[in-house]
Amino acid sequence: METKVEKIDENSLRTAAHLIRIGELVAFPTETVYGLGANAFDEAAVKKIYETKGRPSNNPLIAHVHAQYDISSLIDRDPPYAAALRRAFLPGPLTMVYPSTKKVAPSVSAGLNTLAIRVPSHAGTQAFLRAVNLPIVAPSANLSKHVSPTSAEHVFADFAGKISLILDGGASEGGIESTVLDVTGEVPLILREGLITREMIASVAGKCEKYFLKDGEQAKSPGMMYKHYAPRCETLLFDSLPEALAAYHAKEEAGKRVWLLTGGKWLEQLPPIRLLSLGAYPKDMAANLYKQLRAGEIMADCIVALVPAERGGIMAGVLDRLTRACRS
Ligand code: AMP
Ligand code: MG
Repeated sequence: METKVEKIDENSLRTAAHLIRIGELVAFPTETVYGLGANAFDEAAVKKIYETKGRPSNNPLIAHVHAQYDISSLIDRDPPYAAALRRAFLPGPLTMVYPSTKKVAPSVSAGLNTLAIRVPSHAGTQAFLRAVNLPIVAPSANLSKHVSPTSAEHVFADFAGKISLILDGGASEGGIESTVLDVTGEVPLILREGLITREMIASVAGKCEKYFLKDGEQAKSPGMMYKHYAPRCETLLFDSLPEALAAYHAKEEAGKRVWLLTGGKWLEQLPPIRLLSLGAYPKDMAANLYKQLRAGEIMADCIVALVPAERGGIMAGVLDRLTRACRS
């Protein structure tokens, strides 16, 4: 199968909408990462997503809709604080998990009785979603467990020959996946950290908690259980600069092509070194994380990652992705 990469315009959107309606997959940009999309009502198309990615069948998918789409037929209960959160943060990088009416294909929710819905803010994504006018389920457009894609080139690297169309909307500005928020209970519950932070949610909903899996309990967000986002080379993770530099030099002496990945304040203290810089500020670190992990796996035998010293706000999401990428 030939894989076309096309800028978003009237022609490519017409092709994309046609492919979705006949049950094919289309990759598309969003403000967080690129997604691999299918019609949420088409069970065979949804199954194709799991097969194409090699995604475990118990890891549910997020349904993406355009800003005018009426989600009331898809969700069973809608607490008042959820409406307030939608007004405050949508369109944007916040996914909300509702009790489901089960109108979408069964594989979307992978056996759970909930449905995750997101309204992306990227203008090209909105145009694509309006062109199809259906909920589009889309996980990140990477092979399962590989680093998430933030450009059409990243998607092409994973899926060339496996899908027919990648819509190219440039580099994803956000750089890490959406915040996933369970709104099925009295208090909103963060299942996955992202660019919409716990503080931001609490400022609108009054309260916001973070979910931790208890022993013996079924995971509310099965995707969080897996090793994830991993580059295809050795990765080592350190909290302290001297330890990271010692590991870097030991690998170098062993004849390995080694690169150091870090960002924030550490950048001012580094000696001359092969550096995969995440940039100085939290927003840069989110935007550059996957790009630099993907650059690193091509150039390096070993990436030595030094955990940025910055904390709070969106760093929770950045540190979650970095530690899961480099976990052995
Ligand atoms: P991805 O699309 O690859 O970024 O992964 C989607 C994330 O959303 C995974 O962590 C899923 O487990 C989570 N997710 C999707 N649907 C649900 C749902 N109904 N309930 C809880 N988590 C969900
Ligand atoms: Mg993913």
